[in-house]
Amino acid sequence: MTVSIPRLKRAARIILIGAPGVGKGTQTERLLARFPQLASISSGDLLRENVRLRTPLGIQAETIIQSGNLVPDSMILDLISSELWKRGWLSTSHRSSSTDGTKSNSSPSPQNPVPAPQSPAKISPDASFILDGFPRTLSQALSLDSLVPINFAVHLVTPPSVILSRIAKRWVHEPSGRVYNTDFNAPKVPGRDDVTGEPLTQRSDDSTGTWYQRYHKFEETSRDLVAHYADKGCLSRIEGNSSDEITPRLFKAIEERFC
Ligand code: ATP
Ligand code: MG
Repeated sequence: MTVSIPRLKRAARIILIGAPGVGKGTQTERLLARFPQLASISSGDLLRENVRLRTPLGIQAETIIQSGNLVPDSMILDLISSELWKRGWLSTSHRSSSTDGTKSNSSPSPQNPVPAPQSPAKISPDASFILDGFPRTLSQALSLDSLVPINFAVHLVTPPSVILSRIAKRWVHEPSGRVYNTDFNAPKVPGRDDVTGEPLTQRSDDSTGTWYQRYHKFEETSRDLVAHYADKGCLSRIEGNSSDEITPRLFKAIEERFC
């Protein structure tokens, strides 16, 4: 590993697409450490935070997550778009004229009115970020296109048998979303988060049965999603049997594109 810190020469708006447990969270953490200009939003972490805090949205999402299904598009879009506003990456300070040429229509739904402003939103020109776990369906991708033009979609690929064999060893620090694996990314003190020393837990949706359901959902929805970004010419497929194999390939792909 080199020690120099690579600088992004242009804004990077990256999404990670991959089967449940492929290591999107692990790669995100490594990317944040490698490229200090990047920040990240994880849809799963946002949902789990809402579940933990017992918000109305979290209570509604909990049973869906437990069953291994996807929460409704309107719910996840509200969550992500309000996060983009909160971070100051979206604003209405300029009229959006040329971001993508598409309408600025952010998924209103009858049961769930969108709290984010409906007026034209503009992405901050230097916001560079990774979205982990969002978008997950073509319709989510189309809604995102009208808010933020993504310029790099990475499809992470690991054989499902490998993922399944390591999922039982995954432990998480829920408040931060930090991910460990007792085989290849063990915490310094067993059962404890490296940063806070707080206890680690296992995700209830990481049980084998729920994992199969999540994997099935991924297979069902990811084809169109991957094709969408391939059509846009910004898709890269990165394969590996382990996170350690994938990381250097991912770093290289980002450096080639943005540094
Ligand atoms: P992993 O975190 O292991 O890589 P994953 O992609 O299945 O796997 P998360 O992204 O943490 O896990 O998502 C957990 C659950 O949260 C999903 O199974 C789904 O119910 C819900 N969820 C997360 N993101 C979305 C989304 N974009 N659309 C709909 N549901 C979502
Ligand atoms: Mg994750």
